[in-house]
Amino acid sequence: MRDRSAEPNDPGKTERTQMPGFRELLARTKQNINELDPAEAEERLGDATFLDVRELDEYEQGTVPDAVFIPRGHLESQVENRVSKDKPVVVYCAGGVRSAFAAETLQELGYEDVASMRGGFGRWKDEGRPWITPQTLTPDQRNRYHRHVLLPEIGEAGQQKLLETKVLLLGAGGLGSPAAMYLAAAGVGTLGIVDMDVVDASNLQRQILHNVDRIGERKVDSAKKTLTELNPDVDVVTYDVRLGADNILDIIDGYDVIVDGTDNFPTRYLLNDASLVKRIPVVHGSIFRFEGQVTVFEPYEGPCYRCLLPEPPPAELAPSCAEAGVLGVLPGIVGSIQGLEAIKVALDLGDPLVGRLLAYDALEESFRTFKVRRDPACPACGENAGEIVIAEYDELCLPHATLADGATTDH
Ligand SMILES: [Zn+2]
Repeated sequence: MRDRSAEPNDPGKTERTQMPGFRELLARTKQNINELDPAEAEERLGDATFLDVRELDEYEQGTVPDAVFIPRGHLESQVENRVSKDKPVVVYCAGGVRSAFAAETLQELGYEDVASMRGGFGRWKDEGRPWITPQTLTPDQRNRYHRHVLLPEIGEAGQQKLLETKVLLLGAGGLGSPAAMYLAAAGVGTLGIVDMDVVDASNLQRQILHNVDRIGERKVDSAKKTLTELNPDVDVVTYDVRLGADNILDIIDGYDVIVDGTDNFPTRYLLNDASLVKRIPVVHGSIFRFEGQVTVFEPYEGPCYRCLLPEPPPAELAPSCAEAGVLGVLPGIVGSIQGLEAIKVALDLGDPLVGRLLAYDALEESFRTFKVRRDPACPACGENAGEIVIAEYDELCLPHATLADGATTDH
């Protein structure tokens, strides 16, 4: 593999006596940095961050497992967002030249424990050390997701991760529609959708996955058509079933994040308990007339739904959308925030709404955030909570009762 930094200096340069030539510069650089042989470097696998500073065409043909890939030309601008200064760094290129200069740069940026790998990836591979062929974006994907790739916090690796991410949406309604559309557009590779309703004309005031031609169709089928047209990269998995104690653990199994767009208390409690069992984070959203709320339930890290609401409010104080009405556009805002939080959770980006409840008032046009805490006495996630039993709940959400008929997963 050629090493692009190893090209000699312009021989026609006249001030050779004063300016250091390439070899001199390299020798001087090597005095300022640490170098490791591949054998020594391998001992640091798992402990140090391996940083590959070659070009994309070289990286695509093989790299050290779990290495962070930043081409040398983007090193200064991207490294601080992607490589922690608290861990040792082993930097490598093809032959050990570019990585020597990169190591010096890293030291100047404040990385304290940096080593360049002697002989580079070429020697690493020749010596039979572990390497993989990384999953990379196709040229079409690189174009489609270009605005993501430009963000150093996401980059190619983040986009690749999104394409491998599985998000389950409960409901293809008001909240599920914008969440699903933006998640599909963003390239979340698998979107599961649970909904057992058909498209109704009265849904179209807010449920933008559907349209007049689809009235009477199964909502999951309509959703799949819209999302696949938007982005064929996305595998849309449909569940045209009522979510119940008998199937919820199977359905949610294997998903990375759940976006909850349900509008009834029994399903929310059921989901809460099942997601604790499976330890899957839930992005919760709800809307009512002109107001919306979003929070993220990260199992055993932040509060769960039962910490916030140990029991549902009396039915007369909590009418559903169908009874109380909801302004169009509002679910678009709340569902979009849920989609955004799902991406943050999936990519471990920024500060998701764990332990915080975001409340939106459309009439006032205001957002407020409230701290919400884990309840040590929570019957589901508290210190002394017993084993979680997944059961059907009645409208009081007490275990071992039967879900009321007509409960839907649809705002
Ligand atoms: Zn709890």
